[in-house]
Amino acid sequence: MLIKGCDDMRILVVEDEIHLAEALSHILKKNNYTADVANDGETGLDDALSGIYDVIVLDIMLPKIDGITILKTLRDKGFDTPVILLTAKSEVSDKVLGLDSGADDYLAKPFNTDELLARIRALGRRRGEIVSSAGTLSFADITLNTSTLWLSSEKNEINLTLKECELLEYLMLHKEMVCSKEQIIEKLWGFESEAEANHVEVYISFLRKKLAFVHSKASINTVRGVGYTLTRG
Ligand code: CA
Repeated sequence: MLIKGCDDMRILVVEDEIHLAEALSHILKKNNYTADVANDGETGLDDALSGIYDVIVLDIMLPKIDGITILKTLRDKGFDTPVILLTAKSEVSDKVLGLDSGADDYLAKPFNTDELLARIRALGRRRGEIVSSAGTLSFADITLNTSTLWLSSEKNEINLTLKECELLEYLMLHKEMVCSKEQIIEKLWGFESEAEANHVEVYISFLRKKLAFVHSKASINTVRGVGYTLTRG
């Protein structure tokens, strides 16, 4: 499974106000996204149907085809690309209409670009972290198969020991959250065990070496005095 990082997310902006569209494109590119712009609904729908986008920022009031129709068409055709709707009107009815049509998020104009970037990051995260039913977990650029104990990235793969796998699985299930050494001991060795904090430190160091071996961008950060956090690096 290929998991995209923030750096290679491709975003389509469908917006007929030329200055706003250009400003958005500029801001997205500055934040390491690939951004394309469509200035009318017809072009926007064609572009969206290419299926190459990770997030679509979609204005509602557009020439030729309106945003809601574009969104409904995409969903009817089975495209699940996350969509953030933009509208000049901030009425609740618009919001409800948009969410009913399958929008993932909604921003009323005028909006703060930091707000838009935060929403895009949130949608990208949701999309990048697919937990499949086949015993695999994915985070950032790594995939862990908990049945075969294989850790893989786009660049390499390596076999984990059972404890390493259990530890990484725990961190992946609590990604970007602080996991205390106590929680990890409880999870890996059980409540009554004699395992100590240095057991955890040893396994963390093993896992860090294996993450480095597969050239993963994900890393296990130490939160001094508390525990560890799995981050995108
Ligand atoms: Ca418009």
